[in-house]
Amino acid sequence: MGFIPVAPPGTMGEGAIDYRLARQAVLRQYRAGELSEHEVCDAHPELMRAAVEYSTAITEACPVCADGTLALVSYVFGPRLPPYGRCVNSAAEIDRIRRRKGVFTCYVVEVCADCRWNHLRRAYTL
Ligand SMILES: [Zn+2]
Repeated sequence: MGFIPVAPPGTMGEGAIDYRLARQAVLRQYRAGELSEHEVCDAHPELMRAAVEYSTAITEACPVCADGTLALVSYVFGPRLPPYGRCVNSAAEIDRIRRRKGVFTCYVVEVCADCRWNHLRRAYTL
């Protein structure tokens, strides 16, 4: 059975899920030696490509290697989009999808292009 995350009421917009606690748990396990670096730094090559070429850079340092800076990669899933989602990196693209019929969900993943750390940061409905 999978993990079904629930956002605490009143903490985020409707339909939004914040994965900070799950991220902290993974990093705690990594720092305690319960998870190895190759288990937490396992970004898929396509995610790495998106992080380098089609992402939003942020000023946060990577929590694993501390050398790299994080990039946010956003994927939108919904009707008439590819089954693997559409990678978007601008508010204009998200607005264009939001105006379509149907329910769309955006997943934002943080990625370090240096060490391949990646973690789902948040998900929200458009
Ligand atoms: Zn890193």
